Amino acid sequence: MREITLFLLAASLSAAPLRVGRAAVKITPEPGTPMAGYYSTRLATGTHDDLHAKAIVLEKDGRKAALVACDLVALAPNVIEEARRLAEKATRIPAGNIMISATHSHTGPVITGRGSRDSAYGGSLPVLKKYMAELPARIAESVQLANADLRAARAAAGIGKEQSLAFNRRFHMKDGSVGWNPGKLNPNILEPAGAVDPGVHVVYFEGEDSTALATYVNYSCHLDTVGGVEWSADYPYTLSSILANVKGGGMLTLFTIGTAGNINHVDVSSKKPQKGHEEAARIGTVLAGEVLKTYTRLSPLSDGALAVKSEIVPLALPEVTAADVDRGKTIEAEIRAGKSPKFLDSVFAFKAIDVSDRQGKPHEAEVQVIALGSQIAWVALPGEVFVELGMAIKKASPFPSTIVVELAHGPTTYIPDQRAYPQGNYEVVSARVAQGSGEKLVESALRLLADLKKSGTP
Ligand SMILES: [Zn+2]
Repeated sequence: MREITLFLLAASLSAAPLRVGRAAVKITPEPGTPMAGYYSTRLATGTHDDLHAKAIVLEKDGRKAALVACDLVALAPNVIEEARRLAEKATRIPAGNIMISATHSHTGPVITGRGSRDSAYGGSLPVLKKYMAELPARIAESVQLANADLRAARAAAGIGKEQSLAFNRRFHMKDGSVGWNPGKLNPNILEPAGAVDPGVHVVYFEGEDSTALATYVNYSCHLDTVGGVEWSADYPYTLSSILANVKGGGMLTLFTIGTAGNINHVDVSSKKPQKGHEEAARIGTVLAGEVLKTYTRLSPLSDGALAVKSEIVPLALPEVTAADVDRGKTIEAEIRAGKSPKFLDSVFAFKAIDVSDRQGKPHEAEVQVIALGSQIAWVALPGEVFVELGMAIKKASPFPSTIVVELAHGPTTYIPDQRAYPQGNYEVVSARVAQGSGEKLVESALRLLADLKKSGTP
C-alpha cells in the first residue's frame, strides 16, 4: 500500500527535480572609500563585517532564475544592467531572469550613477570610481558561482511575524502636520501616520541529503542601525551568523529588504538610544529568533514550474519649476563649498536637479516577478517603496506566499503611496516620481502575478 502511494506521488511530479545553487562574493571596498547613507561625506576607516553579493540560482526543467542581494545602500541601473549582462554571458541565465537588489545597508559605499546627490558626497573620488567599475563583475561572479553550485534540492516556505522591530517613521503630530522621525518621546506625536508589515518571509532550501543550502529572508525595515565609519552589512550580519551557527557554516543566508520606504527601527515610545553595533546585533538576533521559529512550520513547496515575467512601467516626474531648480543649484553649490544647509533643503535641492536633468522624460521602472510553482512568488520593485504598497501586493496576490523586494533594478527614489504626497515631509520631498507612481507599480505587479499564476499552475 505504502509503495503504491509513493509510486503515485512520484508519477504526479514533473520530470526534473528542483535544483538550487548558492554563493557569496565579497564586495567590501577599500578603507578611504566614501560611505553612503547620509547627507554628508564620510570616508571608511575599516571593516566591522564584510559586505557581500549573495546569489541563489534556481533551476526547474531546464529553466533558470537567480535571486541576488548586495549589502549596499542601493544599486544604479547601469550597474544592474552590466551585472546582468556579464552573468548571462557566463551562465546563459537570461538577464531578465536575474533579480538583483540592494539590502539598503547605510554602512556601505556611495553608489554613483543615480543622480546629483552622490557626486556631491565623494562620488568623484578615484577610489570609488575604481570600486564602481569592478562592482558589476563581482555581482555577476556571485551568480556564476551559484550556477556552478546547482544540485538537486527541496524548498519550503513560511511567514513568521515580528512586531517589535519595525516602526512607521511618519507620525500625525498635534499641530496637524505629518512628522518624519520626530524624535524619541516627542510630546507632540499623536499617532503613526502609516502601517507596519510584521511579515518575516522565510524560504529554506536543502539538498536531497537534508544538507542546509540556503535560507532566504525578507523583512520590511530600514538597514540604518549602525552608523559610524566602518563597513557593515548592518543587522543581516548577525542574522546570517546566528542562522549559520544553527544550520552550519555552509548555509547561505540571503536577506532582502521588503517595502520599507517609511519603516525604520526607531521606537519613539522609549528613550533608549538605538544606534551602533549593539542595536544591529539586537535586531539581527530577534529576527533570527523568528526565522528559527518559522523553520518549524515551513510548508514544502510543490514541484511546480519556474516562471519569470517583467514589464517596464513609465513613471511620471513630479512637478519642479524653474525657480525650484535655481534654488536647488544654489543649495548644491553651498554643499560643494563645504557648507551644511538645512537637511530638507539639501534633500529638495538634489531632487529638483535630478528631475530637471531628465528633461521631462518619465522613469522606466522595472517590475519583475519570479514564481516557483503555484505557492510562492518574488516581486522586485525599484526604489524605496512605502510599506502600504508592498502590503497591497501581498494582500491581493494569488500566490499564498508573495515576497516583495524593494531597491531592485531602477530607478532609485522614494516611492511614497498616493496618500502621503499631500502630507509632505522627507520621503515626499525626496521622491523623483509623481504622485500615483507607487499605485502603478502595485497594478503592474498584480497583473504579472495573475499572469504567472494562470500559466504556471500545475
Ligand atoms: Zn532609505
